[in-house]
Amino acid sequence: MTPGTVYLVGAGPGDPGLLTARALELLARVDVILHDRLIPIEALAVARADAEVVDVGKVGGGEQVPQDETTRLLVERALAGRSVVRLKGGDPFVFGRGGEEAQACRAAGVPFEVVPGVTAGVAAPAYAGIPVTQRGLASAVAFITGHEDPGKPETAIDWEALARFPGTLVFYMGVRRLERIAERLVACGRDPDEPAAVVERGTLPGQRTVRAPLRDLPAAAAAAAVRAPAITLVGGVAALGDELEWLAGRPLAGRTIAVTRARAQASTLAARLRELGAQVVEAPAIRIEALDAAVPDLTGFDLLCVTSPNGAHELMRRVRDARALAGPRIAVIGPGTARAMREHGIEPDVVPERSVAESLAEALAGEPVRRALIARAEEARDVLPDALRARGAEVEVLALYRTVAEPLEDGARAAALGADYATFTSASSARFFHTAAGTLAGPRLVSIGPATSAALRELGFDPAVEAADHTPDGLVAALLADATDATGTARG
Ligand code: SAH
Repeated sequence: MTPGTVYLVGAGPGDPGLLTARALELLARVDVILHDRLIPIEALAVARADAEVVDVGKVGGGEQVPQDETTRLLVERALAGRSVVRLKGGDPFVFGRGGEEAQACRAAGVPFEVVPGVTAGVAAPAYAGIPVTQRGLASAVAFITGHEDPGKPETAIDWEALARFPGTLVFYMGVRRLERIAERLVACGRDPDEPAAVVERGTLPGQRTVRAPLRDLPAAAAAAAVRAPAITLVGGVAALGDELEWLAGRPLAGRTIAVTRARAQASTLAARLRELGAQVVEAPAIRIEALDAAVPDLTGFDLLCVTSPNGAHELMRRVRDARALAGPRIAVIGPGTARAMREHGIEPDVVPERSVAESLAEALAGEPVRRALIARAEEARDVLPDALRARGAEVEVLALYRTVAEPLEDGARAAALGADYATFTSASSARFFHTAAGTLAGPRLVSIGPATSAALRELGFDPAVEAADHTPDGLVAALLADATDATGTARG
């Protein structure tokens, strides 16, 4: 049997936006994914439904699958003819044991490929406004590993050489050894007043930076209870963090926001919120399941209604030849669905401004309708078919997909309920999230529109914010207004 290829892939430091295009492409394609603990969950969301996904990282700081076992799994799966992504935090060849795994592949005759990632030693400082090199300040960088395990000797580290090193020192895995690192460096002649910093959870929600002169850094980090994962940096560039700090100034900085919509759609909303500085908790309690429904011959219809972006994509996925849609006028529920249809090359004829069924029914009030087809979710409300029928039209409902509950992991549940805001982009996401989380108490609830607000109220919780424009962008705008509202400064 021809062995499958092993891809040694870097997942970046944690922010899903820092996954490479190549990483995402491979993750969506391979048969097997063996991943570390510290990787963005979004990386796994693109995996094939039938892919084997194995967490070989430390579970809750405890048991880690031994390296031998990981290497054995890797080689064994590849020799069975399966393609494998070995997904590692940061870059696979920077303190990631990627080199050893590559050697094991070579020894076993398994072909491999390396996909570099954004390494934490560069990314965490960058997110703290610290460039690891700077003209006139630092023209060299050293990456050093300071073992977490106090039992392990550090004979590999030449402290004298590091003390003399003419540039920035970047320590990985150094938190518990911070005191020792600072002490050794100073004892060997490094300037105790040299700027230094620790960046905890770089690029991740809750990122924190502690800056102090080298001599004071261990005490400052201890006072702030800094924990792993963290990068420690020593060098003049650390002082630039004052001037170049860019993360904290953004309007949603320091706010945690739960996104409850289906994983496949969460990413654009999440990315938009992250750009505004928010920490996003993805807590999808809902998933789209396509139904086995065929699009009927449309020649007899004079109106086609599409009532959600999902409906648009599910419809167009089933239409082989766009000319099949040439007959009927096409009405969509709102700007988001219009955008989705345009992505497929269809310009809708009717687009109400407000994305609710009532507005679409109203927008169509002037139109003579004989026979209409409504492409939608199985569980959608009957406002639109009822309104059209009341006007004498013959209405056929084509259910293209349904939304189903997706169980929430305990961690995601706790993080979402502990967030400052929880966002709901549909009535079903509100219901499914409530079912999965058991409550909606805690965060301020942000609703995309009246139908979603009604669902929240039925569950016994009042939305704090309702978007005036019932689109994801409208929801973001409403949330932003609430978060930056002068009377709401105490919020979050
Ligand atoms: N291959 C990885 C490093 C693995 S060693 C890379 O290239 O980034 C693990 C160490 O990396 C952690 O102990 C911590 O020091 C550092 N690290 C990883 N992710 C981090 C993050 N998001 N913020 C700060 N440090 C991080």
